Amino acid sequence: GSSDYSDAKRVLEAIQTWYVKNLENNPVAKQYLLDRGIAQSSIERFGIGYVPDGNSVINFLNSALLPLPKAVDAGIIAQGEGGRYYARLVERITFPIFSTSGAAVGFGGRTITNHPAKYINSPQTKLFNKSRLLYGYDLAKESIYKNKKLIVCEGYLDVVMFHQAGFTEAVATLGTALTTEHLPLLRKGDPKIILAYDGDKAGVAAALKAAQMLSASGFDGGVVLFPDGQDPADLIAKGQSEAVAKLLREAKPLIPFVLEKTIYAYDLNDPRAKEAAFGAAKQFLGGLSQIIKDAYIPMAATLLGVSPALFGSQTQPSRARES
Ligand code: ATP
Ligand code: MN
Ligand code: MN
Ligand code: MN
Repeated sequence: GSSDYSDAKRVLEAIQTWYVKNLENNPVAKQYLLDRGIAQSSIERFGIGYVPDGNSVINFLNSALLPLPKAVDAGIIAQGEGGRYYARLVERITFPIFSTSGAAVGFGGRTITNHPAKYINSPQTKLFNKSRLLYGYDLAKESIYKNKKLIVCEGYLDVVMFHQAGFTEAVATLGTALTTEHLPLLRKGDPKIILAYDGDKAGVAAALKAAQMLSASGFDGGVVLFPDGQDPADLIAKGQSEAVAKLLREAKPLIPFVLEKTIYAYDLNDPRAKEAAFGAAKQFLGGLSQIIKDAYIPMAATLLGVSPALFGSQTQPSRARES
């Protein structure tokens, strides 16, 4: 019922305040963030915190009289074999994820002890739907509406560093792909969407899927792939914000990006592969509005080395004159 709801909210609010306090009291965790180039002002703005050992989490919840089952509902702790409660995040930097109404609903946690799971995110809860939310949206919203631009990047650190460098339209997905569930939030304010992903295999694949979806949903925007294993956070931390700005300015527009990646995935010297490339391009174009589709058929034809007529556009000027 609604009281469970508010109890979980109470846990999230209290634990967020506690995480922030822990960071102030932990020089090692603090130094980790400073070493990564994160300014104190960014730490405060994003409410970045720290969670020490698991016992201290349980002790804190008990001493604050927060019922452990409510902390389970909030995604902060879990129950193991034999009913024992344990903290989901241990020895991690915490990134609170805020709902659009500004309440902490979940956390991302980065290990500072080289734990094999580099990041652990809160589980899906009643309050935390990670497939709809975008990290940093609450802080980016004003710029998104004002500048009609939204940058989607891969990680928490990228968002924090983008904002620190003045790119305050940056948000990130929460360890998931960008999907149609994100579209309602992306549409708000009618921004252009810039995908700013790592240039590795995973990043390119994610960018292609996202660019296909955004194009088919009528969005304008572009793609930037960060080269040489360096992501936006790395470049900004090294003082290369100007290089980042340049990459953003030179973003490849969504539809040309999809067409090139789709078509050049095939060996166009092999007729059967070329036919498959044609089929893939035609299918992508078929999901676009008629006017956009017609505008990009020549580009697709040129990339493939075929006649535009092969794409059989339905709105031939000659037909329009007949009626
Ligand atoms: P860092 O700079 O802290 O090393 P990153 O953000 O550059 O991290 P990536 O490997 O590029 O790390 O991952 C991008 C995002 O994907 C992360 O911010 C996180 O949201 C998610 N992610 C990465 N590794 C994991 C994991 N093991 N489990 C869940 N989510 C993860
Ligand atoms: Mn990556
Ligand atoms: Mn990184
Ligand atoms: Mn990265």
